[in-house]
Amino acid sequence: MDIGDTIRRLKEELPSGVRLAAVSKFHPADAIREAYGADQRIFAESRPQELYAKVTELGQERNPDGTPAYPDIEWHFIGHLQTNKLKLVLPYVSLVQSVDSLHLLQAIDRWGSDNDRITNVLLECHIAAEQTKQGFSADEIRDILLGEQSYPNVRFCGLMGMATFTDDETVIRSDFGRIRKLFDSLAGTAVSAFPAEGSRLKYFRELSIGMSEDYRTALEYGSTMVRIGTMIFGPREY
Ligand SMILES: *Cc1c(COP(=O)(O)O)cnc(C)c1O
Repeated sequence: MDIGDTIRRLKEELPSGVRLAAVSKFHPADAIREAYGADQRIFAESRPQELYAKVTELGQERNPDGTPAYPDIEWHFIGHLQTNKLKLVLPYVSLVQSVDSLHLLQAIDRWGSDNDRITNVLLECHIAAEQTKQGFSADEIRDILLGEQSYPNVRFCGLMGMATFTDDETVIRSDFGRIRKLFDSLAGTAVSAFPAEGSRLKYFRELSIGMSEDYRTALEYGSTMVRIGTMIFGPREY
């Protein structure tokens, strides 16, 4: 099946209100052009240099009448972000889904202060059994949100998580169940601890879970955004 057909089929399957981030990492700009032609607008990348190259290449292209060819692509960043790479990423993305350390959070806030920009972020939650997956614990996330005033240039938009890499459906369900429960408790915390109109935690409503192999399960656990690469673009060549 081709890229456009897969995107159309996915969008029919996703409940209303659930957004699709097409994970274009390791795929050429042509794959993005094709997906754009099927009305896909959110694209997610995981490497700063690659994101920057694609933003630049596609940003320069014009329609025959001179208007920008891709004026409304929404770029998301989903990879590990080193603080010395912020300038390749933050000016161009509408959401950083993968904030996984206090060091990075502080650097994003400082960059925002220097550049007069508020950055939308998701906190990456460690839900998988593997040691290797990055992210905060539930307690760390609670602490960050209770201290959200410390990050005036960051807007906390929700949580991102990756389930354990396994065929065992029970494990995946348990991972998604835990992040869902945390998300609900935080949305509650946000409302009760910062009831004032104007609390920036009112933006805390995104639960980004679900990839090619497990997005259907993630939808059962209240995903508001799925991040799908392989199913749309085929296998990646690393
Ligand atoms: C690569 C990646 C995806 C997409 O995974 P697929 O299995 O190709 O759908 C989703 N989320 C994150 C954080 C990723 O790094």
